[in-house]
Amino acid sequence: MTERPRRRIALFGGTFDPVHIGHLCVAESVRQSAALDRILFVPTHIHPVKTRERIAAPGHRLAMLRLAIAGNPALDLSDAEVNRSEVSYTVDTLRHFRATLPADEVDLFFLMGADNLGEFGTWREPEAIVSLCRILAVGRPGHAAPDVPERFREAVDRVEAPSLDISSTGIREQVSQGRSVRYLVPDPVWRYIAAEGLYREG
Ligand code: ATP
Ligand code: MG
Repeated sequence: MTERPRRRIALFGGTFDPVHIGHLCVAESVRQSAALDRILFVPTHIHPVKTRERIAAPGHRLAMLRLAIAGNPALDLSDAEVNRSEVSYTVDTLRHFRATLPADEVDLFFLMGADNLGEFGTWREPEAIVSLCRILAVGRPGHAAPDVPERFREAVDRVEAPSLDISSTGIREQVSQGRSVRYLVPDPVWRYIAAEGLYREG
């Protein structure tokens, strides 16, 4: 019997408010370096009243992600978290995917930038997370490579990726100041932001 090659799938969690070319360059680069078959963008659900700043509605964030990944068969989108009424934790999302993807056929990864990796020890059930997946960590301008607690170190693979000093916060600020974010986001996303009037008020 010939063994089927294992599939390597990474989840990429974030607010994606909005998705920008930093996210996309990182995804494309890590896809190659880590020989991933697929990267699944998983926008998080944000509690509408519990956060200090306004977050674009899930429908907008999903629509922009859809536009951003269109035409790249290796990139996909999951509404597993965003459409729930409550905040979901990464560990639950990983359990959900681990339960639906056959363990003998799929290796699961979770992709994150240095800012997120620095806080990883404070996430819910980090031990369970690293038992469910391997972590692929990329650097991020303005964030030193964080010290990962010893017990998680073995589960983290650091991956080189283009260093782009772009953030969604910066993009929202620029738009609210009436400045252009053209080329910081994919063209269709730039058009979407303008057409929907997103981020105009800071
Ligand atoms: P915000 O400013 O609203 O926090 P963001 O640009 O950090 O937005 P997120 O949606 O918070 O984007 O990030 C999702 C994931 O992408 C996180 O793991 C984050 O570390 C990573 N990431 C975002 N931008 C970059 C970048 N320019 N380089 C490397 N990693 C990035
Ligand atoms: Mg962020």
